[in-house]
Amino acid sequence: MTTAFDTIVYDKPTERVARITLDRPEVRNAQNTRLLYELNAAFDRAAQDDGVHVIILAANGPHFSSGHDLAEIEAGSAHDNARAEKTVGTWCGFGCAGAEAQMAYEREVYFGLSERWRNIPKPTIAQVHGKVITGGLMLVWPCDLIIAADDATFQDTAVDLGVCGVEFFNHPYELGIRKAKEFLFRSNVLTAQDALAAGMVNHVVSRDKLEAFTLEIAQDIARKPLFALKLAKEAVNAAQDAAGRGTVMQSAFGHHQLTHAHNMLVHGMLMDPTNLAARKERK
Ligand code: ZN
Repeated sequence: MTTAFDTIVYDKPTERVARITLDRPEVRNAQNTRLLYELNAAFDRAAQDDGVHVIILAANGPHFSSGHDLAEIEAGSAHDNARAEKTVGTWCGFGCAGAEAQMAYEREVYFGLSERWRNIPKPTIAQVHGKVITGGLMLVWPCDLIIAADDATFQDTAVDLGVCGVEFFNHPYELGIRKAKEFLFRSNVLTAQDALAAGMVNHVVSRDKLEAFTLEIAQDIARKPLFALKLAKEAVNAAQDAAGRGTVMQSAFGHHQLTHAHNMLVHGMLMDPTNLAARKERK
């Protein structure tokens, strides 16, 4: 079955497996508000389909995702677009003054959706190739397994742009404390092999084998009883949560909002523009 969305493709490539594919290759799968809500709707569809045991998140085009869609942010239309979508969280005030609106948008659309996907009660697998930049991490990290092509790279440019890391602050859990700090401080690029060594990805395979290998892993998992799978996932997530993950995430999200507010006061924009132009050219 294939169902049409504007910015993603939803299909079921094999029995018990649903696949969601980002489909804005012309902008390297930059995440505008529409894409994020469509992605959320697709995750919901797969979660609520009792015939689906495993969900794959993949991407069309040369790169997995270049991050949040700066064109939408610069056009100032993101908050209105969020109000136009059917929101799934309880946050409001997208049109309020000052930091309130920005926090509301990011709490609902960025942090809120990523956290929601992390808690979907079915195994999820990110099938990653090409560049994963900043906001792109917020699609990959909520997934339970990550399979990377050997051309995949990972980077969080937030600190370079005067912000203290992406809104979904999973860095310490993905990379460990010391590597997470370097990743943030230097805004450096991790190769697929670097990510494998850090424990951030499960497997690295050649680009031409990525789709088939991911499907093979998905099928292997999908043969198992769904109730056992979902409770195994819940148990591992509970281990993280019992160690204070929720508090860490909330604290980091507050810091993130403070850096946006600071940049707005000092530079009149959400990010420090010093490195912004250079970053855009390099993308
Ligand atoms: Zn932000």
